[in-house]
Amino acid sequence: MTAFTDPLAFDGPVTLALVEQADHADPLALLRERFSLPADVIYLDGNSLGALPRGVAEQVQRAVVQQWGEGLIRSWNDAGWYPAPGRVGARIAPLIGAQPDEVIVTDSTSLNLYKLVCAALALRPQRHRVLCEQGDFPTSLYMTRSAARQAQAEVMALNPEDVLDAIDEQVAVVVLTHVNYRTGRRHDLPVMTRRAHDMGALVLWDLCHSAGAMPCDLGAHGVDFAVGCGYKFLNGGPGAPAFAMVARRHQAGLSQPLTGWFSHAQPFAFEDEYQPAEGIARLLVGTPPVLSLLALESALQAFDEVDLQALRRKSLSLTGLFMRLIDQELGGLGFEMLTPRVADSRGSQVSIAHPLAYPIMQALIARGVIGDVREPNILRFGFAPMYIRHLDVWRAVAHLKSIVQSGVHHDPIYHQRKAVT
Ligand SMILES: *Cc1c(COP(=O)(O)O)cnc(C)c1O
Repeated sequence: MTAFTDPLAFDGPVTLALVEQADHADPLALLRERFSLPADVIYLDGNSLGALPRGVAEQVQRAVVQQWGEGLIRSWNDAGWYPAPGRVGARIAPLIGAQPDEVIVTDSTSLNLYKLVCAALALRPQRHRVLCEQGDFPTSLYMTRSAARQAQAEVMALNPEDVLDAIDEQVAVVVLTHVNYRTGRRHDLPVMTRRAHDMGALVLWDLCHSAGAMPCDLGAHGVDFAVGCGYKFLNGGPGAPAFAMVARRHQAGLSQPLTGWFSHAQPFAFEDEYQPAEGIARLLVGTPPVLSLLALESALQAFDEVDLQALRRKSLSLTGLFMRLIDQELGGLGFEMLTPRVADSRGSQVSIAHPLAYPIMQALIARGVIGDVREPNILRFGFAPMYIRHLDVWRAVAHLKSIVQSGVHHDPIYHQRKAVT
């Protein structure tokens, strides 16, 4: 492993010179070249919609003109459209620590949650309880409740810190999101998974805010099921299909409720009787969105030869720098840190609360610093370690400071918004 001495690893004040040194010493600095980013934009929303990797536009163009335009229906076989969901899943597998035949790309995260909560409940027929957490991304709670209703199981939504102790022998499956979308808090995946297994329960992890930003080591920790987005840190583009992971040991007996023809053992036999496909293909439902799948496949090339441990180190360096600069530069200006300061307990985003969160973010965006706002008063900043630099962090905080110090009420953007609402 290359020795990486972090120029920011000391306690004194952070200066611009040190920030520049950190970028200079960054072993992943060149990955930024793999992305097409607009000049004059500091993009801190890659946790919501990842940036465009270079080469995707050309590959999608080729898929449209040659595969669709020339190949027409022959491309289902000749251009490999038909096996694309499994092929792209196999490409995601190493990014989450799974085996190639354990991952498939299909549908949305919401639908995959539904399928897998149902499947997990079917594997624990004697148990009738699902644990999940309050404040999780809403679709997780909505879909988990719907799936549980089908199986006549009860759902307990607990405070995140109470979930571990509530896992007992009544619980069929624990449904958790690795990194919380609102606070950036990261669960201890190994500990939670081990506890669930000790109690005979299954675990389903939502990796929407982890995949592509850090290693997840699903196989090493024996995770049963996982889902995640294609369009966040995996950069698959707007509406990119999601992934679903099922550990091999559960695949043969897996039963999922959305038995569309693409999940059939022989879709093109057009039989009246349903017979599920072998393996992970059973999670498919209908015809896949081929162009979006191919865009995601192309985008994943940005991860070629990327060391995920180094990616995590860089992510922590960026979020750590942001938190330090918030303390150093914005003390007394009404900000409250919501993201845990302990490195192991945070993902790749930092959330800060401020009573004027919305107008502050509008003013930031007007200056080319793009983050987002979550109700009621949260400013959210995602730090995609593939393409964000320490200098971007420094500049973002400088903008934040100048906006708040000069009074966001004096900002023309603020008045524009007032005028229309
Ligand atoms: C972004 C996100 C989703 C999105 O689900 P879709 O079905 O793609 O809309 C789901 N869960 C979590 C935790 C998310 O962060």
